[in-house]
Amino acid sequence: MPEASKIALVPTSSLTRRPAKKSPKRPQDWHWQIRNAVTNLPALDAALKLTDGERRGAARAADAGLPMSITPYYLSLCDPHDPTCPVRMQCVPDIREGDEVAGDLKDPLGEEDHEVAPHLVQRYPDRALLLATDRCAVYCRFCTRSRMVGDGGGAVSLEALGPALAYLRSHPEVRDVIISGGDPLAMATDRLVRLLRAVREIPSVETIRLATRVPVTLPMRITGELLRALRPMHPIFIMTHFNHPKELTPASRRACTRLADAGFPVMNQTVLLAGINDSADTLAALFRGLVRVRVRPYYLLQTDPVRGTGHLRTPLSRGLEIVEALQGRLTGIALPKFICDTPGGRGKVPLLPNYVVARGEGTTTLRTFRGEEVTYVDPPARSHANEPAPTFAAE
Ligand code: SF4
Repeated sequence: MPEASKIALVPTSSLTRRPAKKSPKRPQDWHWQIRNAVTNLPALDAALKLTDGERRGAARAADAGLPMSITPYYLSLCDPHDPTCPVRMQCVPDIREGDEVAGDLKDPLGEEDHEVAPHLVQRYPDRALLLATDRCAVYCRFCTRSRMVGDGGGAVSLEALGPALAYLRSHPEVRDVIISGGDPLAMATDRLVRLLRAVREIPSVETIRLATRVPVTLPMRITGELLRALRPMHPIFIMTHFNHPKELTPASRRACTRLADAGFPVMNQTVLLAGINDSADTLAALFRGLVRVRVRPYYLLQTDPVRGTGHLRTPLSRGLEIVEALQGRLTGIALPKFICDTPGGRGKVPLLPNYVVARGEGTTTLRTFRGEEVTYVDPPARSHANEPAPTFAAE
C-alpha cells in the first residue's frame, strides 16, 4: 500500500462517530467497506487535503450530477497531499464537472435510444447490455452512465427485469449478455446468483459478461463464497477496469488471481484519461502488470464525451500517438485495441495509426514499428467474379 495514505484505512466517516469496536478483520470485509465509504464533503475533507476546486466539486456533486462514494480501500490509494494523484483524480469530484464543452452529451452512447426493454440495451446484433443496478462501490468521475448511476434505485428486482429477460428469450440472435449497471458485484451474492440463473436458463445465451470495477475499488469482494456461487454459471467473463498501475496493489492482484484460478477469463478495459494515464510509459506499466496476473488488456477506450468530463478527455490523436509508441514495444498479449465508441451509440470503431505507406498493383508498402518501409507482394490474382460478396450470417 502506498505510504502516503495508510491513514485512510481508518474510514473517515468514523472520525465523526463513536469509535467502532476494534476488529482487525473488518476492513477486509466488503460490506464494511461499502458501509464506511466516504460519501460526503466533511468525511472527504478529513481524509485528504482538498483544493478549493475539489471542495467545491464535492459540494456540487452532492447537489447535482454524479454522487460521490469512495471505499476506504480505494481512498487509501489516494495521495492525501497531491491533487494530481491518478487515483484521487478518478474518484474525487472536481468543480470542472460543472463545465459543459463542445461534444458533451448526457447519454454519449445513446443507450436510452437503444433500449429494447426496460433496463436492456441492444446496440449490436449478437449482444445486449443488462443494467441490473445503479450502485457502485466507487463512483468514477468519468462514468459514461453518470446520468443514472447512484440515483437511488439500487439493484433492479427480477420482476422488474422480467420484460428484459422475455426479450432475450424471444431474440435468440443475442448470444452474449453483458451485465452491468452500476456494478453487478456491488449487489448481494444471492441476488446476483438469482439473476445469473435466470439469464443462464435462456438457451440461446452462450456467454455472460460481468462488467465490474470491484477488483480495482473493492477487491475484498472477490470472496471464496462469490466464486463458488458464480462458477456453476460458466462461461462468465469478467470485464474489469484498471486505469493506472497504482491500482495494481497486492489486494487487487490477489482478486484477479483468484478470479483466474476459478476459471474466469478476466479482460480489462482502460479508459484513456488526461493527466491520469495518457502516457505510453504509464500504460505500458499497467498493461504489463495486468498480464502478470492473467488479466488480458482488452480495450484502451477513448473517454466517452460524457457531460462534465471535458477536463479528463484527450484528443483522439493522443491515443493514436500512445498506441504507436506501444506497438512493437509491448508483447501482443499486453496490447489492447484502441477504441472509440462513437457518439450516439453507433458502435465501437478500432483505431490504428496509419501503417500503409503506399498501395500499388498487387503490392502494399508498410511502415514497421521501427520506421522501416517494407513492401508486401500479393499472391497472383485470381478471379472473384463468381464468388458471392462476403457476408456475416449472424446479421
Ligand atoms: S464502476 Fe463503472 S458504472 Fe460505476 S461509476 Fe465507475 S465507470 Fe461508472
